[in-house]
Amino acid sequence: MALSEFELIERYFASSADAHGRGVALGIGDDCALLEVPAGQQLAVSIDTLVSGVHFPADAPPARIARRALAACLSDLAAMGAEPAWLTLALTLPAADPAWLEPFGKALAEGAADYGVALVGGDTTRGPLTLSLQVHGWVPRGEALRRDGGRPGDAVFVTGTLGDAMAGLDQLLHVAEPAPALVERFYRPQARIATGLALRPYASAAIDISDGLVADLGHLMDRSGCGARIDFECLPLSEALRSNYAKQQALSWAGSGGEDFELCFTVPPERLAAFEAALAEHTVPVTRIGTLESQPGLRMTGADADVASRGGYRHF
Ligand SMILES: [Mg+2]
Repeated sequence: MALSEFELIERYFASSADAHGRGVALGIGDDCALLEVPAGQQLAVSIDTLVSGVHFPADAPPARIARRALAACLSDLAAMGAEPAWLTLALTLPAADPAWLEPFGKALAEGAADYGVALVGGDTTRGPLTLSLQVHGWVPRGEALRRDGGRPGDAVFVTGTLGDAMAGLDQLLHVAEPAPALVERFYRPQARIATGLALRPYASAAIDISDGLVADLGHLMDRSGCGARIDFECLPLSEALRSNYAKQQALSWAGSGGEDFELCFTVPPERLAAFEAALAEHTVPVTRIGTLESQPGLRMTGADADVASRGGYRHF
């Protein structure tokens, strides 16, 4: 791209850069950003790449892409109990089109403000639409929620409701008048940052649900050296999902649809009472769905468990 195009792009991202610069000694504009991690904290880092036509429909509105990418990426910080601080963006675009860049930059800035992250660097290239977002957060040394801390007997919980994102995508692709509540869940998932922070004193292990409950709980089980039993009758389903789909389809997406970016976490029995008291006033509901067990593998009980555990669902 010509220099003028880079300048054009920089203009659209300037508002994501300022105003949220905690710990930013030097932001965008030099060869590197210079960042200060507060004393006693560890840096939590994660990167996600989204490709047009693979992770979102090719004609998806740019503002939607920005919000979704941000939430997907920040969800990994939530899963670690980390507090978001900084963001870097590598953006590949077919052309420096202001009609695309303006709403994308605006939505990214709004999202960055909502989550309290500052854009501290980036790169732009010409090519098929692809974006890589890297997030950086802080967590007090030794307090991060990891996948490997679960033990047999720990209760398994999930936040929010499951299956809505894939239902939203199905609505977008196959329904003339898609249900707004489900479409919002696909395009505007919420990274459960506040919940992740609240879980730090209680959870033994945590993961965010990007690939589907069965797959992601499986990762947690593997790293923790445990199996688990979950009851599909307990999976939290939204009213929008229940009213638009048969129960079997709803449970299938809840079990293996993915992209909901809810948290799945475990709490040891001796901390359950304190955890339930602490989370009673929390805005995001948490639902117990099962228990970790010493026997390897995942055992599912409840109606339609067999259907719900079948493979993921991907269009495009
Ligand atoms: Mg993750």
